[in-house]
Amino acid sequence: MGPMKTLNGEEKMNDHDTRHNLQKFPDSAGASNGNSADHRIFQPLSAYFGMNTFNDQIMREKLPKDVYIKLRDTTKKGAKLDLSIANTVAHALKEWATSRGVTHFSHWFQPQTGLTAEKHDAFLELDEEGAVIERFKGEQLVQGEPDASSFPSGGMRTTFEARGYTMWDPSSPAFIMEGPKGGILCIPSLFISYTGEALDKKTPLLRSMAAISRSAMKVLGLFGNRKATRVVTTIGTEQEYFLVDKAYYQKRPDLRITGRTLVGAPPPKGQQLEDHYFGSIKERVLTFMQDAEHELYKLGVPAKTRHNEVAPHQFEIAPIYAEANVGADRNHLIMEILKKVANRHGLALLLHEKPFAGINGSGKHNNWSMADSEGNNLLEPGRTPEQNLQFLVFLVAVIKAVHDYGGLLRASIASSSNDHRLGANEAPPAIMSIFLGDQLTHIIEAIRDGKGARATDQSIIDLGIHNVPSILKDATDRNRTSPFAFTGNKFEFRAIGSSASVSLANTVLNAAVADSIDILVGEIETALSKGGDLNTVVMAVLRKQIRESESILFNGNNYSREWAEEAARRGLSNVKNTAYALDMFIEKKNLDLLIRQKVFSRAEIESRYHTKLEQYIKEVEIETDTLSNMIETLIVPAAIEFQLRLISAVKGLKDLEESLGGVSYKSQTDRLKALTGLIESVETENKALVAMTGRAESIGGISERAKFVADKVVPLMSSVRAPVDALELIVEDGLWPLPKYSEMLFVM
Ligand code: ADP
Ligand code: MG
Repeated sequence: MGPMKTLNGEEKMNDHDTRHNLQKFPDSAGASNGNSADHRIFQPLSAYFGMNTFNDQIMREKLPKDVYIKLRDTTKKGAKLDLSIANTVAHALKEWATSRGVTHFSHWFQPQTGLTAEKHDAFLELDEEGAVIERFKGEQLVQGEPDASSFPSGGMRTTFEARGYTMWDPSSPAFIMEGPKGGILCIPSLFISYTGEALDKKTPLLRSMAAISRSAMKVLGLFGNRKATRVVTTIGTEQEYFLVDKAYYQKRPDLRITGRTLVGAPPPKGQQLEDHYFGSIKERVLTFMQDAEHELYKLGVPAKTRHNEVAPHQFEIAPIYAEANVGADRNHLIMEILKKVANRHGLALLLHEKPFAGINGSGKHNNWSMADSEGNNLLEPGRTPEQNLQFLVFLVAVIKAVHDYGGLLRASIASSSNDHRLGANEAPPAIMSIFLGDQLTHIIEAIRDGKGARATDQSIIDLGIHNVPSILKDATDRNRTSPFAFTGNKFEFRAIGSSASVSLANTVLNAAVADSIDILVGEIETALSKGGDLNTVVMAVLRKQIRESESILFNGNNYSREWAEEAARRGLSNVKNTAYALDMFIEKKNLDLLIRQKVFSRAEIESRYHTKLEQYIKEVEIETDTLSNMIETLIVPAAIEFQLRLISAVKGLKDLEESLGGVSYKSQTDRLKALTGLIESVETENKALVAMTGRAESIGGISERAKFVADKVVPLMSSVRAPVDALELIVEDGLWPLPKYSEMLFVM
């Protein structure tokens, strides 16, 4: 997502002279939310869970039975929406919503940049007599026309069609977003051009889920599963974030404008003590969390786990997993609600991947699996050899997918903010690899070495495959450094940024896995047609595929330099920044995959490639502008103020020298020299940064410009930062214009 805007739109810098006064926010301990707190105490969660969603129970109540059944087929079984029911559904939705104080509706969708977009329309019409009536027609439910001309499309809409429209996605329930004076009925929607090109992130995600279903069903067929009617991908997102007191946040233009601190000296106490993780949650934070969860429960988001994270003031929230499209929507809701509720509590919620240099950044573990329509997790090792063979086919397909399309996966999580984690000295690294754990690695190696070649039931048992379920879950230890880890019955894609939408990463992952499954199934079917027994054929195909893909497997410390060198020898993708990573979208092999799996058209990929390049350039530009501005209007003036004080101290001491019979002012002059030197460095480095930013603007090609920004501009930001951080350590505390790390991260 782009640089974060201020939390409540328009927050100006407060008075510079009263430093960081926390008392400004009397309700910061959540006292103003007494009412909803009471609610929580006296009502069981189940009493209000989902009350703001148009859920199954409400649908059944409010809709005629035949309409309800048709709609349920759409939402539950993925059937095509029957347009003849739209009017009835719209009417019921409006009745339900208005009875709950809703005045407006909005198609809620995921544009290519930012998180979600909405445009509110009142349920308001005038009848022939000019009297006001509340009305919501089927066509308004099914299709909306936002004034979409200002959403980025990477040039696509100029090529195709000037306008796009939003379309109801009935697979995700409509919900009410409460507002101070009446709620808004949000209708989860797709955003497409009139020629059918996807302008959003969700349409491709749904297409990729269809691709998985198509391919995985073939595997189920091979193993004789005739019950399942479709396969879905499931995701559970572990959302990390930081909280800082809003009074601090408001005094940091960098945090407000870019979402991260662009300067700031390391605090005396960092995370060396590692005492925060799973520590007890401070009351102020707990109050916020409970309030946020209360809102999420009303929206039907099953927030399950909360805890402190590794860094000070860093936390995590994770819901129970859901089908990928619903899970992605919910993650957007989680991010929105967290921000909104934090604001209410006098806190600023930071979703940026690296808000504080030298302190662990935030990510979003994307737990991913596939399930059939009977609810069976396809990455759950089975109880019988046959089930385990099917499990191994899916497992190897994922290994192959990450091996073949590691670069594309890297591109799917690329953003200027995520570069601070992936490209820097932090786990997970930019190198794609898979962690399987010892147990499974053992099995995979045995298959590779042909030990299971005979594949009788007995030989599968000999391999230990038979026993997989009992040991696997505990055997996959917590390798926290791996970007893509198997954790017992699901994979965890850990390299997604905390501020990102998970849609694109899942889209690419699904497409790659679907393709691998297709290839495996193709090879199995070919061998079967030549007459072989299923077990033996499957084992042979697995063996071949493992040999081709095993370089992606790595169980060690992903953080080490040895791994970077080893990965280079293995030829694994290791692209440090977005400007270069994005090129992988348009690499022929990757383009072919996405088109072959019908997830994107060529134009759609190219449009995303351009939009993302543009966004990268803009985000860095906003950062450099913000940094320069802070230096000129805050940092250098404060340093000069201190310089003046030192000068007058030196002068004063000098004047008194005789009368005092000799005095030393060496320490003051030393300080003055150091200070003056640093001010000079800041000014020089800042000039260089401004000049380099200017040069970047003159570069014509967008990809070339992005690379120039990555290679030349971004490093200069560190050069500017170094003397600024040194200044922070010598300028008088009362004069320093910005809240320090030691305050933001340790005071709440
Ligand atoms: P761990 O702490 O071992 O990573 P958890 O059980 O806490 O695992 O799960 C983390 C996230 O993974 C949660 O959001 C959970 O709902 C989700 N999850 C569990 N099973 C699946 C699955 N089959 N598919 C997708 N996500 C899953
Ligand atoms: Mg986890």
